[in-house]
Amino acid sequence: MPRQFFVGGNFKMNGSKASIKDIITNLNNAKLDPNVEVVISPPTLYLSYARELLRPGLEVAAQNVFDKPNGAFTGEISVDQLKDTGITWVILGHSERRVLLQEDDAFVASKTKTALAGGLGVILCCGESLEQREAGETIKVVMSQLGAVAAKVNDWSKIVIAYEPIWAIGTGKVATTEQAQEVHAAIRDWLKNHVSSTAADNTRILYGGSVTEKNSGELAKQPDIDGFLVGGASLKPAFVDIINAQT
Ligand code: PEP
Repeated sequence: MPRQFFVGGNFKMNGSKASIKDIITNLNNAKLDPNVEVVISPPTLYLSYARELLRPGLEVAAQNVFDKPNGAFTGEISVDQLKDTGITWVILGHSERRVLLQEDDAFVASKTKTALAGGLGVILCCGESLEQREAGETIKVVMSQLGAVAAKVNDWSKIVIAYEPIWAIGTGKVATTEQAQEVHAAIRDWLKNHVSSTAADNTRILYGGSVTEKNSGELAKQPDIDGFLVGGASLKPAFVDIINAQT
């Protein structure tokens, strides 16, 4: 069975009630490729609001979740709280959280395990810095980020991997189709050798990093690119063209 194309919109810490309503109204009224799974991820405060406005069939992801069920963890939110408000996905391991908030591989893996156990889908981000790429360490870095998750999680059926080279995020410097395809193929190979052939065949691997309506068509043609995680461009009407990149 072919892997269903998946496009996520990561709003990061952007938006207001008014602008999120505009984005959602645009999505609700747009003609979207029915073969694409679409998930938007507004800031935590607006998750319920987005869920209420968004038409059925389009899903909402949190940008984070904690790895404990409840208790004295000020400022955190739990898997059950997300599910209680109709949220079905969570983005974990985003480089902005890894770098700015010092989230390490083990913590990301622990949160992934908790989210999956509670029934959320996980958009699991990985990717190298410019320094690591120039030192030839891309594959090593990505595999060690994924390896930390594989050490805690056996079932990858609800994980979507997002390969996001840090040097391409928010910089306007998109990876070439060859650079992206090379890493995606290596991730698929790694899944085959370290998880299972089924996981290698079925796991969606998204590309993220300065995706726009201009470059999404070429990237979408690569055999191991199964969709996108989109930051800046998900706030714009052209997000619809990225969702429809395969049409
Ligand atoms: C992201 O934050 O996941 C991302 C890919 O951002 P941008 O598309 O803005 O580079």
